[in-house]
Amino acid sequence: MLPTCKQVAEQLSEEIDQPLTGFKKFKLKLHLLMCVYCRRYGEQLNISSKTIDLLAAKNKPNEELREKLLSHFRECHQHPEPRSDSNSDSDKSNPS
Ligand SMILES: [Zn+2]
Repeated sequence: MLPTCKQVAEQLSEEIDQPLTGFKKFKLKLHLLMCVYCRRYGEQLNISSKTIDLLAAKNKPNEELREKLLSHFRECHQHPEPRSDSNSDSDKSNPS
């Protein structure tokens, strides 16, 4: 007897921490072959666990991104956008 979709969902999340073995795994794979919903669920679980691994590996600060932000920041302050005063009247109409 094959596991139900609910059991498969539970087993898939368990498998991330502790890989299934033997007949239990065989039945799980068999269910996945026949059931597109559980297959998609398993793919999503794999993707999210891989993403978490990637995020954990990328814990150190990104120097390149920091430099880009800093240079952008400096550019903004060297060339400030002149503000048009034509809208200032509508700002003053705002009740406090
Ligand atoms: Zn299923």
